[in-house]
Amino acid sequence: MAALMTPGTGAPPAPGDFSGEGSQGLPDPSPEPKQLPELIRMKRDGGRLSEADIRGFVAAVVNGSAQGAQIGAMLMAIRLRGMDLEETSVLTQALAQSGQQLEWPEAWRQQLVDKHSTGGVGDKVSLVLAPALAACGCKVPMISGRGLGHTGGTLDKLESIPGFNVIQSPEQMQVLLDQAGCCIVGQSEQLVPADGILYAARDVTATVDSLPLITASILSKKLVEGLSALVVDVKFGGAAVFPNQEQARELAKTLVGVGASLGLRVAAALTAMDKPLGRCVGHALEVEEALLCMDGAGPPDLRDLVTTLGGALLWLSGHAGTQAQGAARVAAALDDGSALGRFERMLAAQGVDPGLARALCSGSPAERRQLLPRAREQEELLAPADGTVELVRALPLALVLHELGAGRSRAGEPLRLGVGAELLVDVGQRLRRTPWLRVHRDGPALSGPQSRALQEALVLSDRAPFAAPSPFAELVLPPQQ
Ligand code: URA
Repeated sequence: MAALMTPGTGAPPAPGDFSGEGSQGLPDPSPEPKQLPELIRMKRDGGRLSEADIRGFVAAVVNGSAQGAQIGAMLMAIRLRGMDLEETSVLTQALAQSGQQLEWPEAWRQQLVDKHSTGGVGDKVSLVLAPALAACGCKVPMISGRGLGHTGGTLDKLESIPGFNVIQSPEQMQVLLDQAGCCIVGQSEQLVPADGILYAARDVTATVDSLPLITASILSKKLVEGLSALVVDVKFGGAAVFPNQEQARELAKTLVGVGASLGLRVAAALTAMDKPLGRCVGHALEVEEALLCMDGAGPPDLRDLVTTLGGALLWLSGHAGTQAQGAARVAAALDDGSALGRFERMLAAQGVDPGLARALCSGSPAERRQLLPRAREQEELLAPADGTVELVRALPLALVLHELGAGRSRAGEPLRLGVGAELLVDVGQRLRRTPWLRVHRDGPALSGPQSRALQEALVLSDRAPFAAPSPFAELVLPPQQ
């Protein structure tokens, strides 16, 4: 069995350690549950955790007997030593079973689909895709996440809409699916509580980029949803958790493989994350851009990804004969206003005042901006030279916005929801020494290092203008597709 390492770190557990019976591969004579320091030591030293060990750790996380330091230490041990497929599968199940399993009417069985992302910059696909799929006849009970590391979180973005409530009980979720066809909710004490705790701890312990932890985190949330099909958008590139496509493909295969071992039909799309997706980064700004996409407009790369991932899901779940036919149906839902109509229903059903939901979904972009949190100041950066835009590096942009308050440094920290940036140029476009970036900030003017980091994010060349490529690279399919 393969060991799922975080690429480039430490050594995988030795082959002899895969017995499931402790770090030396010997039968464990003691039926007593092991204490946390012992479990941490085993993983720290490259051992394999048994099902009972993993379940014991997850139980301690949820019942509060594990101290924060112990959780952090175990996460770091897993981050450095990896887990094999079986351990990852058990961890996924244990996280999923830390809360309630969602149950739906039998008639919905084939309709239940969902999408998840490993995390990007400017990635507002879920905000658009959940209602678009609902408009195509699917039920989308999306359990989503908050910002992780430098990447933005769908829940945080939605919370920039006044009144939007991400905490919903399983019973309320069924009502939401009845009314809107989709909902986007967070973990809670009832829903995958263990992942909620570990997710927040990973964000502040440099343990985000771990193959088994990402896999278990994503699939545990999806396992409780009782899906017919799931597509995971696995990002690769300068601003993704894993920079190169091979590492991302390894994660994609793990997600598909662990999904299959747990009876979940998962496909994984590898998509490029070097530049921000779309033109806006930042919570409220991204909601605005998602609305634009649901107007049938907005940036082509965002629309491209929404239709590609949606097309794959409609095909996998038997709602379309081919991926291309599925993509065309999703595109039609963006163009005919039916996705936007579902989004409005979802907002109202999840706590937004119906008048505000209406105004947001029917207003012009300028009117929408008045309805969402806004930063106090705007500051534009001038391009340092003429040239063709080769790239706008997403990572430095995200790191500066993080410093300006768009991201968390401590678990649970409040965010500045109006802080963000608008790209005023597209990749491939010819540019003069004109403004290329508008930063929305609450605090003082950008510092020297912040301005420099942002200017270095803009990569210019002498090439002729060109059409920006699609972010989509390849699709890893489940067995027997
Ligand atoms: N999304 C999740 O839910 N978990 C991760 O670890 C990464 C992205």
